Amino acid sequence: MRKRLVIIGLALLLLGLPTIALAHTETTEDDSNKSHNWQEYSRDTNIIDTGTHEFTYWKNFMKHKRTCQISQKVETIVYYCDVHDHTKSETKYLETIHSHKHS
Ligand SMILES: [Zn+2]
Ligand SMILES: [Zn+2]
Repeated sequence: MRKRLVIIGLALLLLGLPTIALAHTETTEDDSNKSHNWQEYSRDTNIIDTGTHEFTYWKNFMKHKRTCQISQKVETIVYYCDVHDHTKSETKYLETIHSHKHS
């Protein structure tokens, strides 16, 4: 009789352990699966020089040559997530700027 109880007790323990382990992993998974709370942290506009090119134009029936500086205007936005304490940045292309107006 006493032996049987021990066996039942062991069986319950063996059955119970995976349940506890599962419950434990479930809670940790819930933590990491929490959705991000991305909030805008900073926003910066940068001009990146990408080079020069020559262009020709006509003035007083004369052909002229000029060097034009090309740059890209980009916006960098930094986001911060307070749920996991990490950051991410996003760079957006805004426009291409030519130092001289030409067609
Ligand atoms: Zn996060
Ligand atoms: Zn140009």
